[in-house]
Amino acid sequence: MTADLAVVGGGVIGAFVVREALRRHPGWRVLLLERSSIGSGATEWSAGVSFPLAATPRHRDLVNAASPRYEALRGTPAGAFVRPVTMVYVVRRDGLEAFRQRVVGADVRPVTATERRRVARFLPDARIGPGEEMVTHDGQGFAVNARAVAEALVALAADRVEIQLGQRVEAVEPDDGGYRLTTEHGEWHARRVVTACGAWTPPPVHATPLPGVPGARRKRIAALHARLPVTLDDPLVYFVDDDLFILPLGTGTALVSFYRDAWDTDPDTCDGRPGAEDLRQGRAALGRRSAAAAAAVSGGRAFCDLYTENRLPVVTGHPDLPDLVAIRGGSGSGVRFAPALAAEALQALTQPAPARA
Ligand SMILES: Cc1cc2nc3c(=O)[nH]c(=O)nc-3n(C[C@H](O)[C@H](O)[C@H](O)COP(=O)(O)OP(=O)(O)OC[C@H]3O[C@@H](n4cnc5c(N)ncnc54)[C@H](O)[C@@H]3O)c2cc1C
Repeated sequence: MTADLAVVGGGVIGAFVVREALRRHPGWRVLLLERSSIGSGATEWSAGVSFPLAATPRHRDLVNAASPRYEALRGTPAGAFVRPVTMVYVVRRDGLEAFRQRVVGADVRPVTATERRRVARFLPDARIGPGEEMVTHDGQGFAVNARAVAEALVALAADRVEIQLGQRVEAVEPDDGGYRLTTEHGEWHARRVVTACGAWTPPPVHATPLPGVPGARRKRIAALHARLPVTLDDPLVYFVDDDLFILPLGTGTALVSFYRDAWDTDPDTCDGRPGAEDLRQGRAALGRRSAAAAAAVSGGRAFCDLYTENRLPVVTGHPDLPDLVAIRGGSGSGVRFAPALAAEALQALTQPAPARA
């Protein structure tokens, strides 16, 4: 039987593609092919933070397209894994105006005395320079348990999706008005295909790799876990210039995200566990802001993601192959942009096929 759409990759982006497809086309039969299990790639280890921050107009469009789609999950089982978070930013006073311009849909204001006390409670020795200020904005920030959301989105659609786990798609071939997708264990047929393979190379078409994303490379992403006196109601603190944030994960545990400058990591070598160098670099980065927090590190997590040069994910078709779309380059923001990217992929599918020469 021919599916109306095959989605290759069951990470958070593939899961949102399934949701978006069935929202737009309730009658479609969707096939999801996943090499392992739902949400088991970068999605599983993600901090899942969605800052309403945009460095470029394109980032702004993605934030604006993603936010209402996350909002729409409220009241559904997936919505239980999306929680609003108060965002506190430590920014240099002379960079405040530029920072203000980056915030999408909310006004930046100084933190209140209460918000400052809440930060001081779990980061009593935080090093905040005389030229820096703590600011926040109302609403808009949230943290996503990305694996749980991916699983919930797929489960919600279970009556209209055929889910094939443990199926690594090795090739996609044009065939009979659609595509034939081949794995080691079998073959499937679909009229349309969206690939969302994260840091893995998407399956070749006609034995030809999909056009590459110029300049894209796989980057390691690591985060620490620290035993800090936080609760889920505490704010996230983002030291903007350090690209370091501390996110309360639950009572007594926080996640610390820091910039890990390690490239060309093969996703097949990632199992979620941090290496000694991840921990060393993370402790050093955190220690520059709080020695006490660095001393409270208890472990961490690490995986990788495909980064583009301008940190913008791409949704690309193939000039000669209609109804085949690849979503690539999560660039460390794949969770926050997932619903927007899924919408763009569906949009690209429904556009007329480009004229052939
Ligand atoms: C520690 C860490 C912290 C992060 N923090 C944030 C954050 O705060 N905010 C944010 O937005 N992002 C964050 N990210 C990045 C974010 O997690 C990724 O951008 C996002 O999960 C990418 O989703 P994906 O669906 O593209 O990829 P993945 O989750 O990697 O999913 C791809 C899926 O495709 C499957 N697959 C691959 N090839 C094939 C094939 N040939 N056939 C079948 N299946 C295939 C894989 O098994 C996998 O399940 C973080 C990542 C890490 C590791």
